[in-house]
Amino acid sequence: MIDLGYGPQPGRLPNVDGVGKVDALLLSHGHRDHAGGIAMLSKIGNPPIYATEIVARRFPSGINVRALPMSGTAEVLGVRIGTGRSGHAPGGVWLHLALGDGLLYMGDNSSESILYAYDPPPRAGTVILDGSYGSNDATLAECQKKFDALLESSAVLLPVPADGRGPEIALYFARKGCPALRIDETMRSSLRRMADTERASLREGVAAELARIAETAGAIDGPRGIILATRADATEGESARLVQQWENATDPVIVFSGDLTPGTPAERLVKNGRAR
Ligand SMILES: [Zn+2]
Repeated sequence: MIDLGYGPQPGRLPNVDGVGKVDALLLSHGHRDHAGGIAMLSKIGNPPIYATEIVARRFPSGINVRALPMSGTAEVLGVRIGTGRSGHAPGGVWLHLALGDGLLYMGDNSSESILYAYDPPPRAGTVILDGSYGSNDATLAECQKKFDALLESSAVLLPVPADGRGPEIALYFARKGCPALRIDETMRSSLRRMADTERASLREGVAAELARIAETAGAIDGPRGIILATRADATEGESARLVQQWENATDPVIVFSGDLTPGTPAERLVKNGRAR
């Protein structure tokens, strides 16, 4: 089995009733929508999990994880598996299985990230791309340009994930010289961890920039500055608290940058016009 996620709708887990016994679970990365279903392991015969060390470190203790390299080869049940960094999240990899003409699972991936390193995958007879959230044909540079207009506002709340694009957006604003960057404590510890024990996932030289942001970005102190708070859909965490507090106010500008999942504050605020 490749990936076993949760959501994106709150409480949603895949139906694994007809799957039967699984010999091994391979994880591409640790995001909740790819790895958040491991509580269901007993329903598929408690297989060993294969994941990179960076992903495995975040699992609760007692979970049986065998290490996959960030960029290299491993053997799982007699099948050779090639991995490479997928340009998307700490510890995230694509998986190339030496089956038939080659089976390549890309998970979530980006060759354009300014933060995460990307290793081009080898040729494969079959490629599986995850298009669960639809496609976005704009380049990352075009998407980032939309953030530039936000620098004109005196207060902007950006609900973001603590890894994935959250730190990437922080890096983008820091490189723009944004003096008023403010982050919650979950983001701050995520930035520190990425700059330290997760730096193998980053592009050359970026770790020092993240460490600097973790030290210099201000704490959230009312509707002031460019505020990055977790979680991305504002269902939990600091962003949920801030959205509740500011939903009926005019400040700050609120901008969601991910999937607008039905039943989440992200969807509600965009629908009612309070957020973009
Ligand atoms: Zn992801």
